[in-house]
Amino acid sequence: MTDAISLAGYDLAPSRRHFLTFVAGAVAAPYVFLRPAEAASPFVMEPLPYGESDLAPTVSANTLGFHYGKHYKTYIDNINKLVAGSEFADAPLEKIIVETAGKADKTALFNNAGQAWNHAFYWKSLKPRGGGAPPAALAQKIDADFGSLDALKKELATAATSQFGSGWAWLALDGGKLKVVKTANADTPLASGKKPLLTIDVWEHAYYLDYQNRRADYVAAVIDKLLDWEFANANLG
Ligand code: MN
Repeated sequence: MTDAISLAGYDLAPSRRHFLTFVAGAVAAPYVFLRPAEAASPFVMEPLPYGESDLAPTVSANTLGFHYGKHYKTYIDNINKLVAGSEFADAPLEKIIVETAGKADKTALFNNAGQAWNHAFYWKSLKPRGGGAPPAALAQKIDADFGSLDALKKELATAATSQFGSGWAWLALDGGKLKVVKTANADTPLASGKKPLLTIDVWEHAYYLDYQNRRADYVAAVIDKLLDWEFANANLG
């Protein structure tokens, strides 16, 4: 049983968990944990930090159910298929993103790694009864770099509504300074050396069931009611 892998010796790094396949083994050892040779080294879906209906009515359970259970799952399934047997078989998402950015022959890897990372970050950028005032450390930095929280919120809303087509709006650290950034499709500030603090998904699948074409209404509601400033503050460190 050379394929047998003990749980204790298994690599379960937070960003890189492998499926453990439970199979019937030899008579003397009824069950052993195996990692089949043909299996990818799967990434797992980031658990939602709240229930699917907990962001309603700003983001409905219907929207979040499709977004998390269908769209996000597809990105995770795709990246697992793409890394299987490749040079990135054991790489964390961040490494895949940085090393495939801008490479024409690695577009599918970049897109699916980016979307897997961006969505996990988006789930954590929101919370029920969010919005309000940021914690002191972040509030001081916002005042220093934007002048006021209202100025930052206005700039974030403008970035989110003006992103042409699919993409993301971000608050990020760029060389120690807070900046609002927008990225297209699967792109992420990680790919250009910035540190994301929070994000808003502005792909139509993030809002269309609730807001149809009214992206500005979705963005305004998310900023006022769902953004988790404590998550952004924690990412400052
Ligand atoms: Mn999305």
